[in-house]
Amino acid sequence: MISVPGYNLLVDAGDGASRALEESRIDFNSINSVLFSHFHPDHLNGISSLIIQMKMRKRKMPLGLYVHDNLKEKMNEFLETGYVFKERLGFELSIRGFKPGENVLLSEVLSFKAKENSHLKKYEGTFDVYKSGADKSLLVSAGFLFTSAEVRLFYTGDVADKSDLYLFRDEEPGIMISETTHVELSDLIEAVRSQKSIRRIILTHISEEEPLNAWLGQLAKSERERFILACDGMKKDIRFPF
Ligand SMILES: [Zn+2]
Ligand SMILES: [Zn+2]
Repeated sequence: MISVPGYNLLVDAGDGASRALEESRIDFNSINSVLFSHFHPDHLNGISSLIIQMKMRKRKMPLGLYVHDNLKEKMNEFLETGYVFKERLGFELSIRGFKPGENVLLSEVLSFKAKENSHLKKYEGTFDVYKSGADKSLLVSAGFLFTSAEVRLFYTGDVADKSDLYLFRDEEPGIMISETTHVELSDLIEAVRSQKSIRRIILTHISEEEPLNAWLGQLAKSERERFILACDGMKKDIRFPF
């Protein structure tokens, strides 16, 4: 979750999102909107229960769900499949499409921009096998640049090709949050070394912590200090210096 004064943005809501928020003592109803990078279950499947929890806690504040413009209808179907009907919530729920490259202003001090990456390209062939004429425009996955008053933050989302680690190179982000499950660590260090603007790298989406720690351990001290291993409940003030 990215928090700035007056606005809380949850990025992705996978399995167990409600429980994870609860364990971090984050009030569900303080979340203004949820932004989705793609629809793999570890990024999407917790949203229905989270919305129901918000209803049970008598939410009144509107909630926005931001999805790639191609996925608006799919999100609607997904929610309705879990009997999450907008009319019955007691608060306004809107599904908003973002277009790659456009700057979306969330509050006076927080905006994001999405760019498509290659994470889901692997399914293109499979799609044909299962469903001829399937709509491949649904195979969209994004990385994001978040801009606040203090910092530009690049969140990779889930990636595939190493070029996905350079999506916002030209915007010179100061912080990078990178996933580590679908990426070669050698590609990651190369990306970090060649993007000089990046001062801190937060590693997340961790499959196995041991090899990651071992890898960090063999980096030079000055380099290792730039990395932070994310863990459940971790809270970071990302204004510099941190
Ligand atoms: Zn994924
Ligand atoms: Zn994932």
